[in-house]
Amino acid sequence: MTHPLWIGTSFKMNKTRAESVAYATRLRSALGDGVPGVRAFVIPPATALAEVSAVLDGSPVRTGVQNAHWADGGAWTGELSVPQAADAGARIVEIGHSERRAHFAETDGTVRLKVGAVLRHGLTPLVCCGESAEVFERGGSVGHVLRQAEAAFADLADGLERALIAYEPVWAIGEHGREPRPEEVAPVHEALAAEWGGRVGGILYGGSVSPDNAAGLLGVPGVGGLFVGRAAWEVEGYLRILEAGR
Ligand code: PEP
Repeated sequence: MTHPLWIGTSFKMNKTRAESVAYATRLRSALGDGVPGVRAFVIPPATALAEVSAVLDGSPVRTGVQNAHWADGGAWTGELSVPQAADAGARIVEIGHSERRAHFAETDGTVRLKVGAVLRHGLTPLVCCGESAEVFERGGSVGHVLRQAEAAFADLADGLERALIAYEPVWAIGEHGREPRPEEVAPVHEALAAEWGGRVGGILYGGSVSPDNAAGLLGVPGVGGLFVGRAAWEVEGYLRILEAGR
């Protein structure tokens, strides 16, 4: 079974509306009809989602939101629902990023509730899984990530083929992360592909991806795309990473 490669970026808590729109405008004109075989996506801050979605409407680039609540509405101050995200143009909902698990009490239970809501509304959940440095060092990566993925999709079947999984080892993410060698992430990708490859729409790698290592990481068996932070926050960096998927 061959899926398209999914290659996308989240801006995290960065960029103003004007900066996000400028990025989207430049991306749209540089990308034209897109890179064959690659599905591009951009996840801006929620404040810019509607404008970025409007700029990219009709282009090959999908947009998404960095988090959404499991309830459709109600007394959840500060939260954003899946229907609200969809109304602002999101087609992808990122769930369970390690920063949300670490700082905002996101658990396997809340991840599962959110995945259910996203699937129910016909959007694509992008479920982030990944182990800490400590788990990695004691050889527990595969078991840890498989357990997180199992919990995220427990008892869900409808629409599962739309779902994406991003394997993002915590030790490889962000400015304090360490760039992984392809062979270090291969065992988890092999296990995820065996367990989930036939059921979900794609399995991505994320954590210190750059234009220089993108092709090598895409060459790891079981890697079906890349989820990128810092290296794609300038359009030129993102374009080079998209090109690696050609
Ligand atoms: C991330 O935080 O999900 C991520 C992939 O970040 P970076 O690429 O900057 O390591």
